[in-house]
Amino acid sequence: MALLHVQLINGLFQGPKQSPLSQRRARAGRCLCLQTQAPPSRTQRIMESLSVSGEVGGAGGAYSYSALKRLDQLWSSICSAQTVVEEPKKVVSSVPGFFGNSDLADKAVDTFDVLICGGTLGVFIATALCAKGLRVGIVERNVLKGREQEWNISRKELLELVEIGVLVEDDIELVTAAKFNPNRCGFEGKGDIWVEDILNLGVSPAKLIEVVKNRFISLGGVIFEGNSVSSISIYEDAAVLQLNEGNILSSRLVIDAMGNFSPIVKQIRSGRKPDGVCLVVGSCARGFKDNSTGDVIYTSSLVKKVGASEAQLFWEAFPAGSGPADRTTYMFTYLAPQPQSPKLEELLEEYWKLMPEYQGVSLDDLEIQRVLYGIFPTYCDSPLPAAFNRVLQFGDASGIQSPVSFGGFGSLTRHLKRLSTGIYEAMSDNLLDSYSLSLLNPYMRSPT
Ligand SMILES: Cc1cc2nc3c(=O)[nH]c(=O)nc-3n(C[C@H](O)[C@H](O)[C@H](O)COP(=O)(O)OP(=O)(O)OC[C@H]3O[C@@H](n4cnc5c(N)ncnc54)[C@H](O)[C@@H]3O)c2cc1C
Repeated sequence: MALLHVQLINGLFQGPKQSPLSQRRARAGRCLCLQTQAPPSRTQRIMESLSVSGEVGGAGGAYSYSALKRLDQLWSSICSAQTVVEEPKKVVSSVPGFFGNSDLADKAVDTFDVLICGGTLGVFIATALCAKGLRVGIVERNVLKGREQEWNISRKELLELVEIGVLVEDDIELVTAAKFNPNRCGFEGKGDIWVEDILNLGVSPAKLIEVVKNRFISLGGVIFEGNSVSSISIYEDAAVLQLNEGNILSSRLVIDAMGNFSPIVKQIRSGRKPDGVCLVVGSCARGFKDNSTGDVIYTSSLVKKVGASEAQLFWEAFPAGSGPADRTTYMFTYLAPQPQSPKLEELLEEYWKLMPEYQGVSLDDLEIQRVLYGIFPTYCDSPLPAAFNRVLQFGDASGIQSPVSFGGFGSLTRHLKRLSTGIYEAMSDNLLDSYSLSLLNPYMRSPT
């Protein structure tokens, strides 16, 4: 119900001895203004009561109510678009001739074998390539830092990082905040399957990225933090990056690791509306007595009405590393974006109603640590083939997706050995044309 605020604006009852400024204000305000204002949603009340610190650049790295509103605005623009969300900016252009002969050649401040744009998952491929002896730089528009909220992953996936020299085995203990077994997959009324060692670790992205960042620097890697990519010119012999902050960097290959909303991906996809989206909301909260196992995927209801639309809701829940009674719960759904699709805030409103029943708790007994949300777009034509010579997508930008979450650190680690070896071979044999690079991102069936 809308709250009716009746505001009596100053000026109605003011005496004659006023300054010219107050007189002008009084004249302007000589009206009785009626303002209607919706009461804050439960989501807003909860989120605004939490102190938010340590927001970072990667997906799921923002926890504030204002960041939720911004993402909901972006989501609304996706939903209301017919076919194109926004005409994309031209970031990459092909320039005939050699960089060495161009006017920019004298202005380049540094030269690399590979430049990675975006550092969240970018630092993993950067370190793998550095370990093979390439000179690698990372351009990251924020400080290169992982989020506080854990990534859930299996140990087997972390061991893939050890195999390619990105981590040593002792690092796994250092970055693992939570361990639990077994985990459930279930559809209510249809029975449960309990699995061991699948998504049973909570890894701290903050610690993991710090460890990998230090390894990258120790291997000679260079990070340009607080710098964002403005444009990329592709010459016959080089890809040249111009940064918004003014620097010019050249390399043989650019890896676009700028996530789902990468400006290069927008250009390649001509700003096209995604074919589907996985919407996720959730929370990390304290106060769970029964907190020794997790749910990899669970659904406890049929299709439900959410806002003006319908959705099949799924759950994921895991013990969190911040305390024995702390638990992360996610509620997610898959939608084709339509004007009537629910906003993230509407899903969160549903979440506060349904989560207590699903988890067997009362909201009053929980201390919410942070509220979580994200949008994972997907396109039928995924993975994304390389559209330009010398530019390859990686991580969420690549469309190499987990069919469950449509993204993820976990789904990337499975490809890192194959990709780092393939990129190294492409560099060694100078196979950096778009066709050859596309062979590195083929369609593959992926287990999770
Ligand atoms: C709520 C939520 C929960 C999740 N839980 C899990 C989980 O449990 N397990 C798991 O494996 N995954 C999880 N994920 C997914 C995981 O967070 C993402 O898959 C991962 O962050 C993708 O990394 P990325 O580097 O490809 O893209 P992003 O995380 O989007 O990072 C892109 C990077 O590029 C930088 N950047 C962007 N534009 C520019 C520019 N112009 N110039 C320079 N830099 C730029 C950004 O600052 C950022 O660092 C979750 C995601 C969300 C939203």
